Amino acid sequence: MTSKRTRDRLVQRLVDQGVSNRSVLDVVANTPRHIFLEEALSHRAYEDTSLPIGHGQTISQPYIVARMTEILLGAGGTLSRVLEIGTGCGYQTAVLAQLVERVYSVERIKPLQIQARERLRRLKLHNVDFRHADGGLGWPDEGAVFDGILSAAAPREIPARLYRQLAPNGVLVIPVGDDQQILTLVIRVGDTNEFKTQKLEPVRFVPLLSGVTR
Ligand code: SAH
Repeated sequence: MTSKRTRDRLVQRLVDQGVSNRSVLDVVANTPRHIFLEEALSHRAYEDTSLPIGHGQTISQPYIVARMTEILLGAGGTLSRVLEIGTGCGYQTAVLAQLVERVYSVERIKPLQIQARERLRRLKLHNVDFRHADGGLGWPDEGAVFDGILSAAAPREIPARLYRQLAPNGVLVIPVGDDQQILTLVIRVGDTNEFKTQKLEPVRFVPLLSGVTR
């Protein structure tokens, strides 16, 4: 179930679907997805599908995790600070933590955040800051900016705060819409207040909700 062959098969599927960033594929191959799921579902961990993680939420499909990560990383260079909105079970967080210097991850459902923190500790990934907060408002610290922002929940429209938290040349990858969502890429042009937006592909995410729950 968790054998190298099973994981390699998943990686091959991602390659077949067009994921080409070698570092991203290597990280997916080496990250145990089964530890992010309840035992009853862990036998399905290496299928390329989203699965329930409780509280009405889902672990993202490996294809979408890989795709969003490779878009975020872009042509190259390492990103130093990345904001993740919607920690969920922490799988995307774990993938990011192996590819960028530091991850700042917000989740609005407290028990999910607690579990994710524990899993990342088990994987000895220590370069992540977790906050229980509404990610529609960005990272709660005033003046925080990020080279990359990745959202795993879909707003109807991109919240203004996320634009303001992009560093010069910063990159935002986010699903936008309600019934029909489009994965959207926003790049801040240098240190200006100009942003280039590109619509990439149809996707299905849970909605970005406001406020937090205990
Ligand atoms: N990458 C995660 C995706 C989880 S689903 C994983 O693979 O597990 C998206 C997550 O976004 C859910 O956990 C949901 O609670 C969270 N979410 C929704 N709206 C949010 C908001 N405004 N702020 C922070 N997290 C939010």
